[in-house]
Amino acid sequence: MNVPKVHLKNSTLLKTPLWVSIATLLGLVVLSFPLIMILNQYHEDIVRQNFIEQESRVLNEQIKQKIDIGDSIAIAYAQNTVIRNALLFEERAPIISELQLINREYAQKTRFKNIQAHIITADGRSLVKTFELDSYNQDLTEHDLVKRAVETGQAISGINIGGAASHFRVINIQPIYSLDDESEVIGFVAISQGLRSVVESFHAHQVDYALFSSKSNQIDSDGREFTIGKAHYFDASPMAGFVFIQKQIRTDNLYFLNDRLVYTQPILDYGNHILAVHAVSIPLDVYYARVWQRNVDAIYILGAILLSTLSVSGLLLMVMKRSVIRPLAVFEKTIKKVNSSKEYSTSVKINSDDEIGRLSEQFNILLRQTEDLIHSLQYQQQAIDSSLIVSKTDLYGKIVYVNQPFERISGYSSKELIGKSHNLVRHPDMSPELFKDMWMTIESKRPWKGQIKNRAKDGSAYFVTVNILPIANLNGEVTDYLSIQEDITQLIELKESLQTAKEVAEKANQAKSQFLSSMSHELRTPLNSIIGFAQLLEFSNLSEKQKSQLQNITKSGRHLLLLINDILELAKIESGNLDMSLEPVNLKELIVDALHMVEALAKQKQIKLHCTNGDNLDHFINADYTRIKQVLLNFLSNGIKYNKDQGEIYVYVETFDKDGAGWIRIHVKDTGLGIPRKELKRLFEPFNRLGHENSNIEGSGIGLSIAKDLVERQGGEIGVESEQGIGSDFWFAFPLIDREQAVNRELSNTILNEFSHDATSTPFVEKVDYKKVLYIEDNPSNIGLMEDIVETLNGVSLTVANTAELGLEEAKKIVPDIMFIDINLPGMNGDELLPLLKQLPELRENGTVFYALTANAMIEDVDRGLEIGFDRYLTKPINVAEVIALLSQE
Ligand code: ADP
Repeated sequence: MNVPKVHLKNSTLLKTPLWVSIATLLGLVVLSFPLIMILNQYHEDIVRQNFIEQESRVLNEQIKQKIDIGDSIAIAYAQNTVIRNALLFEERAPIISELQLINREYAQKTRFKNIQAHIITADGRSLVKTFELDSYNQDLTEHDLVKRAVETGQAISGINIGGAASHFRVINIQPIYSLDDESEVIGFVAISQGLRSVVESFHAHQVDYALFSSKSNQIDSDGREFTIGKAHYFDASPMAGFVFIQKQIRTDNLYFLNDRLVYTQPILDYGNHILAVHAVSIPLDVYYARVWQRNVDAIYILGAILLSTLSVSGLLLMVMKRSVIRPLAVFEKTIKKVNSSKEYSTSVKINSDDEIGRLSEQFNILLRQTEDLIHSLQYQQQAIDSSLIVSKTDLYGKIVYVNQPFERISGYSSKELIGKSHNLVRHPDMSPELFKDMWMTIESKRPWKGQIKNRAKDGSAYFVTVNILPIANLNGEVTDYLSIQEDITQLIELKESLQTAKEVAEKANQAKSQFLSSMSHELRTPLNSIIGFAQLLEFSNLSEKQKSQLQNITKSGRHLLLLINDILELAKIESGNLDMSLEPVNLKELIVDALHMVEALAKQKQIKLHCTNGDNLDHFINADYTRIKQVLLNFLSNGIKYNKDQGEIYVYVETFDKDGAGWIRIHVKDTGLGIPRKELKRLFEPFNRLGHENSNIEGSGIGLSIAKDLVERQGGEIGVESEQGIGSDFWFAFPLIDREQAVNRELSNTILNEFSHDATSTPFVEKVDYKKVLYIEDNPSNIGLMEDIVETLNGVSLTVANTAELGLEEAKKIVPDIMFIDINLPGMNGDELLPLLKQLPELRENGTVFYALTANAMIEDVDRGLEIGFDRYLTKPINVAEVIALLSQE
């Protein structure tokens, strides 16, 4: 991508620093005037201060230097033996010649040509004065310094009036000691120096120096005037006409006097009186030149700072332009391009290591992610469009978007749909209530889901499941509604056809059940007669051969009956007509109940029944009591049937863990024939008797397959372990349920004796007590059989009624001891009749017993019969021996 041109004036980011720079510059220019004034004032102060410091230092150094020189010269004189000798006797001549000698030597060897010296006596008189050799005995006792030297006998120096010249000079006084006694002061030597060298040294740096003294002796007067010293080297001084007043010069001072800057320093005597005053000065133009020089220097520095600030900010602007503004412009251009073209594959090309470089990298990643997102969204859109019907409406239900599947299924083009109300495709069959609910839901920003019948352009109906989602913007305001629909027309049609098929099947099934039930009844009735009369025949005088033939008839009849029962049961299960209601079943109750029921059969075959863990049986499972008992009975009766003589059966339970839940397994273990390993797989297949088809053991081979079906339908498991010749262990297992959940069922004390009829086969009873028997039965053959049975008994009178209603009448009339009641009767059936009979007080008083005698031989029929109050439930065909036994009971 080309780097876009960036103009400073167009760059918002640069504008601010640019304006700040310009404003700073202008501010600095405006401020520079007062700044220079302040600077000037400051520099004047500095120059004056410097002037004071520098010139006072120079002055002090010069004076000190002079005093040091004076001291060394005076010491040289004071140690001269000639002088010391001569002074003792105040002999002037040797001193004079010695002084001349020394002066000459000084003149030759130093720059001091004329050293002025006084040789002074110990009491302060000048014995000799150089160059005025004739002067002697000059009284110096009043001279300030001499007086002090005489009084102290010590060396002393300072600026003071130089002898007779009355000029102020630098004076050094040294004591002269006696040659004999080094501690005895015999006089003094006093050296005085003029101030010319001081003047010259100041001149050397363009400063004028002069000493001002006063003619007045009024040393304490403030008005005492000081004028320039008389020494000739002050003659040319520009300060010649200056007059200082004592009041002004008590301390160091600075003045602007006659175009000069003047600094004064007082010279004090030992009494702190002003003796004279040093004055140094420079012309004002020199002073201002110095100030100005400093100003110029400062302006240069300021200018330099300004310039460097300007160039630094200029440089910074350039750097910013290069490294920030230009990359940002690239950024802006790329983003604009992406925004207008929607091409997210573009990327920002900024190759730098700085923050913007890193920002661009992150931005490019963002672009990639956006591209991926858009790609996947497009993909999803395609996926949705290829399978789902999508439309979008505004807040008023006007279509704003439809996808192709919508156009396809509705038969309208998007042009025809957009802008129209979504009602366009609504089928008139749809209830307005549904749409009211839909609008209420989506208007409250909640999604709505439902099934709708729509109408296509050609008038045909189509069905859709609809998901309507309110689409909200970032502020949470719903802007439109998105409807995602799925075509379920085929499904609905299929459902409808399935429903029809189901109804047909149900009808067929009902017909089948009806057929089976009536067949059961129809088959049992003649069988009842066959077996019944065969049994009766057994009581007549027959040859052994006839007896065995008759037993064959009875046995085959029973086998046929068993087969019919099992086939009916299987048919019932397969047709799904088996009603099962799962409830908590107490295992103890179940096992005790079932054991009672097979007790007689077991006794007959001399098989011992054991319940090994009787105490641990108090568990509950969720099952249909009757059906699970049926399974247990099947296990038990098989255990008895397929056992050895005097064999054993063990019923036991064991709990175990399965997928974290507690289960219980109920075992029926026998010591019987066992099952060959290879047969185990086929054990639960219907009609498989595993070789027992031709044996004496009665059976149909259906029981176990029914058991398996029943257990699995109730959510349990079934299985077997068996070893041929040793025995089999059949079990079923169910999840355990909590004791609390279980509703305690009353332990049933009824004993179903389906399998024990043989056990009850009582020996033929010749004599029976007189008993009134009422038999309510509509089938003549059954009536005939009953009549034949009764005929064989003494003391039994039989009354027959063909309907329940007639039976009720008869019962009231004869008050029977025993009533046999068929269940399937024309009009009122046996079940309905029983409570009416039981209400009859005469029957209650008499203790009439009620036996159901019916072809409804299914186990649930038996259970139900006992539950409603029959004392015994006898199934057809009539077991003659059993009926005789009942009729013979006391
Ligand atoms: P049925 O007993 O009426 O024949 P089942 O379905 O109850 O039918 O049993 C199927 C077959 O399984 C039986 O014929 C028998 O061969 C075998 N069987 C069932 N229980 C046992 C058992 N306890 N010991 C040995 N074989 C058994």
